[in-house]
Amino acid sequence: MAKNQMLQFVNLQRDMPQKRDPSIRDRDFNEIYAEFSEAKAEEQASRCSQCGVPYCQSHCPLHNNIPDWLRLTAEGRLEEAYALAQDTNTFPEICGRICPQDRLCEGNCVIEKSGHGTVTIGSIEKFITDTAWEKGWVKPGTPRAERPESVGIIGAGPGGLAAADRLRRAGIQVTVYDRYDRAGGLLIYGIPGFKLEKDVVARRINQLEQAGVQFVLNCTVGADLSFQAIRGQHDAVLIATGVYKSRDLQAPGVGAAGVVRAIDYLTASNRVNLGDQVPEFTDGELNAAGKRVVVIGGGDTAMDCVRTAIRQGATSVKCLYRRDRANMPGSQREVQNAEEEGVEFVWLTAPKGFTGDPVTGVMVQKMRLGPPDSSGRQSPEVIEGADYTEDADLVIMALGFMPEDLPALWNEEALEVTRWGTILADFRTHETKLPGVYAVGDIVRGASLVVWAIRDGREAADAMLEYLSNTGSIAAE
Ligand SMILES: Cc1cc2nc3c(=O)[nH]c(=O)nc-3n(C[C@H](O)[C@H](O)[C@H](O)COP(=O)(O)OP(=O)(O)OC[C@H]3O[C@@H](n4cnc5c(N)ncnc54)[C@H](O)[C@@H]3O)c2cc1C
Ligand code: SF4
Repeated sequence: MAKNQMLQFVNLQRDMPQKRDPSIRDRDFNEIYAEFSEAKAEEQASRCSQCGVPYCQSHCPLHNNIPDWLRLTAEGRLEEAYALAQDTNTFPEICGRICPQDRLCEGNCVIEKSGHGTVTIGSIEKFITDTAWEKGWVKPGTPRAERPESVGIIGAGPGGLAAADRLRRAGIQVTVYDRYDRAGGLLIYGIPGFKLEKDVVARRINQLEQAGVQFVLNCTVGADLSFQAIRGQHDAVLIATGVYKSRDLQAPGVGAAGVVRAIDYLTASNRVNLGDQVPEFTDGELNAAGKRVVVIGGGDTAMDCVRTAIRQGATSVKCLYRRDRANMPGSQREVQNAEEEGVEFVWLTAPKGFTGDPVTGVMVQKMRLGPPDSSGRQSPEVIEGADYTEDADLVIMALGFMPEDLPALWNEEALEVTRWGTILADFRTHETKLPGVYAVGDIVRGASLVVWAIRDGREAADAMLEYLSNTGSIAAE
């Protein structure tokens, strides 16, 4: 087949990169998908139907120019394909790995809708950018000329880093503050290595440093340094602190030893895999080895917990979710991966409390789906008289996250929040009610996705550049 022929979806089946066998991959925290070979990536890219109105592009939060970089890939013009992919996405190889493509670009691919199976957009985006790294095409965003204005960014997750990259390329002096000892936010300490290996994130952070972005780590804003001090030091400030307050259950036994929060469990696991000493892991509190593990929740965090527990050597791993498979918020791809690795899903179940201290079991209520509520989703209802106890030595609660009370923590009541506690920011510019203070990512949207944080960060950077140009530089005065 000539390299430049497109519309091959009629002749070519959809193909994903090979997945490592569950019996091998469940022993380590490495990514489970292999890379496409170049020939396979070109072949799969050639399946694109080059739609005039590409729904994949409109359903990608970054509006990536997908049909064009697929065509360039199919033609073997990988450096140009990379340049185009990088142009709209700060971290294409990260999105290619962890975007829920079935809900975004791939779920809206026209050939998927016509029953031929979607173009494997995420895997090709990953392939193009990983190839670019291998070939040395990915260069630090060192600016052509320096500008005197400075921006302080609070939070080194994808939202903060995407903004840092864009501002620094424009010559702004950028300082990123983070309370952790490593930059990356949930990319480093939340998402496990089997979805996103950590050196993929680290090489991006190295490049930001090479471009001149300053990182101030181990610095909790509101404790080690005040928000007001950061405002005083910079011409504009971006808040990108994410959401970390776990939603807890109000049920008997919640405080028992062995009932833990998902974020603590996953952070400990990621730290151990990065070579850190974690006493709560060493003493067994946050280690699933040899335990009967029950995870409560049906979102992506729950999926990451069950698969982490399998890799740590749990004797059994069950996931309790109060709705059914079709109504769970987590990605179906991740449910399938978890099932392949030995996780058992117990649908239509909800915890009522916990027995023992240390925990010995979860008191479970069986549920059924009732009529749809105002949001259109069927509400779970308790089936009376059907309770039972699920044995457990470790229970991990993955029930979602809420924002911390930043105005109180930072003693800044003028920082307005919504009724959900997320920061109130302009939808387009991301400016808050405080002049020159912007906010992006989960702290504005509530728990969301990496790709949305990247989009927000890029948009806020552009708005800040405009603001800095209009107001002039305090630093320059
Ligand atoms: C377990 C888990 C798995 C996920 N899996 C996926 C996935 O597969 N795909 C996907 O798209 N999304 C996933 N997400 C969601 C995604 O990680 C987030 O939407 C995204 O990271 C939000 O980016 P952010 O920059 O807003 O915040 P974060 O990534 O949370 O970064 C915020 C940073 O701010 C720092 N910070 C907070 N408060 C302060 C302070 N007071 N002072 C200094 N620093 C502070 C934190 O230390 C952190 O480094 C997952 C989330 C979790 C929890
Ligand atoms: S960024 Fe995410 S949604 Fe957009 S093309 Fe890439 S994988 Fe799809």
